[in-house]
Amino acid sequence: MKSLEEQLADAKAELDRIERAIRAAPCAEVGHRWKHLGGKHAGCVESDPDFDCDCSLPVYECEVCGNCDYGENEEAREIIANCKARREKRSSK
Ligand SMILES: [Zn+2]
Ligand SMILES: [Zn+2]
Repeated sequence: MKSLEEQLADAKAELDRIERAIRAAPCAEVGHRWKHLGGKHAGCVESDPDFDCDCSLPVYECEVCGNCDYGENEEAREIIANCKARREKRSSK
């Protein structure tokens, strides 16, 4: 029977193998592997230049194929929506 240490080593090797397989799989199969690249200015103030907006949208790039979402993601949409809500709140008072 294998010792616990050996079982752990086997499990780690298996984990490693699966992780490598996922990394090697094409994006079309498993989806993009988004990596946070940085932030870009949201520019949600274009319609309201008086509003002091410092929103920054997260930009992601796929580690595998290099595809970039240029801030087109769920998080960014939420940030823009929140900013819009803040502007509306301000203008309603
Ligand atoms: Zn990709
Ligand atoms: Zn904003």
